[in-house]
Order: sequence, then C-alpha cells, then structure tokens
Amino acid sequence: MHEVLASSKEAKELTRLKVGQVFDFELDASGSLTTLRTQPSKLVSLMIQRSAAGFAFSKEEIKPQVQTTYARGTIDSSLFVAAKRAGLSHNLTMDLANIFGYDIDFALDIRKGDSFELIYESKHVDGQKVGSGDILSARFTNRGKTYTAVRYVNKQGVASYYTANGESMRKAFIRTPVDFARISSRFSTGRKHPILNKIRAHKGVDYAAPHGTPIKSAGDGKVILAGRNGGYGNTVIIQHGSRYRTLYAHMQGFAKGIQNGAAVKQGQIIGYIGTTGLSTGPHLHYEFQVDGVHVDPLSQKLPMSDPIPSSELARFKQVSQPLLARMDKEKATQLALNGQ
Ligand SMILES: [Zn+2]
Repeated sequence: MHEVLASSKEAKELTRLKVGQVFDFELDASGSLTTLRTQPSKLVSLMIQRSAAGFAFSKEEIKPQVQTTYARGTIDSSLFVAAKRAGLSHNLTMDLANIFGYDIDFALDIRKGDSFELIYESKHVDGQKVGSGDILSARFTNRGKTYTAVRYVNKQGVASYYTANGESMRKAFIRTPVDFARISSRFSTGRKHPILNKIRAHKGVDYAAPHGTPIKSAGDGKVILAGRNGGYGNTVIIQHGSRYRTLYAHMQGFAKGIQNGAAVKQGQIIGYIGTTGLSTGPHLHYEFQVDGVHVDPLSQKLPMSDPIPSSELARFKQVSQPLLARMDKEKATQLALNGQ
C-alpha cells in the first residue's frame, strides 16, 4: 500500500476512500500487486498498473448518457418534501426555486396545493441514474397562478431562463436576500420599536433566520458601506446603478472581500445573519430605496432584465415549443393514470 501511495502525486487520490467503494486487486503468481482498479464515484475510474519503472497511474472519466426526465409534484408541507417525492435532488430543487425566485417568495408565498413540473437533464451510467444536469423547462403554480420558464442558450452561448413569451425570468433584483427565512416584521409607516418601545416607522423588512445564514446581494452593484453603523450594527449598503440602493443590517460579519468600494454580483454572499446593533435576536433588517425614498421591497414592482431579442425569437420558439408540449403531454398522461 505504501509503495502504491508513494508512487505518484495522483496516487494520493487513493487516500480518500468512501464507505462502499470497491477495489479490484490483481496479483501475480508470487502475490505481488500488478493492477489495482477502483471507482471513487460512478463517473470516475482509477487504475494503478505495475510497469518496469514502478506503478503507473491512470484516471478515466466515464461519460454518462444524458437523457431528459419529466417530474411533477404537489406541495403538502414544503417544497423540499414534494420535490424529494418527485425524485429531485437537493441541488435540482434549489435550481427550481432559483428559476422562480424573482416571481415567488419561497419563504412567504408557498401554499399547500401549489404544484410544479419540469423537464431536466438526467445523467445515466449502465442504466443507473448518477446525477442531474440543467433544468430545461419548468412550470410552477403558486396560489392558482402559473409561471413558466424555459432555458435558452443565446447565440453568444449564454444560458438564461425566459417565460414562454421570451421575457426574462431574471429581474434586476432578487426579492428575498436570504434563502427560506421567515419574515418577522413587514414594512410599515408606524410600529412600536421592540427595544426603544416607541412608535417608529419600520422602513424595511425583517427576515428572521439562524445565526450565520448567508445574506445575498439583491442585485449587481457597488458596496458603499461595509462596517458598524450605530443601531444598525454591522451593515452593508449597496448602490445599484444611479437609482437603487439596498441596505442589510444587524449582520454577524461580512463575507470575504466585502468592503467599501467592492463590486458585487447579484446573489453574491455579502455577509451572515447576526444580531449586532439594536436587535432582539438574529435577523436581517433589509431596506430598499428608489431615488433616495424607502419603498417596501415586497410590494415594489421590480425592474426586469432584457427579453429575447426579436432576431432570436424564432430560434427560441424552436427550443421552447417542444419542451412545453412535452410537459403538457406528460402531465395529461400522469393525471389520467392517477385517475384525477
Ligand atoms: Zn428591521
């Protein structure tokens, strides 16, 4: 074993083993190792072979067969439970939530009876499912309203999700800067402050979430403050273009690289939930300003990003129509089978 592990830098990969990992050893007549084979994952195969010069290492990446799979689910308790029942992995469920994250607040809006369906790429080796790829199309029905998304790779090779009409699913701002938090206080023009015990306008939204929960930038922009800010505690303020500004308060700490003047991308982690400043428990206090005026980020009509250019609309329809037609057909078949 020592000889094999010391034979090359790559052979060190064999020091990381998984429960259930299988090894094939080939020995010669005298009992010395000639070949060792193992698969650390279903997509990678490693081989060590004795040669005149010692042991030679080789690694083979197994190319999975990519198929498309249809899945459908109805929510009883949570999106995660329903998605798991429909055979979706955690990552795929997060992807699904992210696609609709501009239209649906997954922390607030989900109701029993909401449903989803999607076509996604699934990876198979020897007839066994080993992973999933991109979601190609999806529908989400939330409180009776159905949203549709189709993945389209434009002529520049950039992939995005669009509605069936070719409008972008991606808005300039994310509605919820924390994943699956619960809202503890809404925007209001007058409420009793929990610490000061006085009636005060609450110019933002409070998201209660555990200590250390990541906080994401609502849009692309530039950090104009990252530091202590009185009763706000550790605060980040981001300027988005000339009109918009977002503020994130009571943070436990800032993410790496978040400092005055830093450029941030939409969805980038800027810090973590805490309870610094005037705060009664771990939560994010989030403010949204348009032209210097505080607005309620939950009711604000948020600006959209660009739709499919008219020059690519025909190409988009060639991609989207078969996917949407297949979802219709699969759903009808499933409903008929279930006698619904
Ligand atoms: Zn607040």
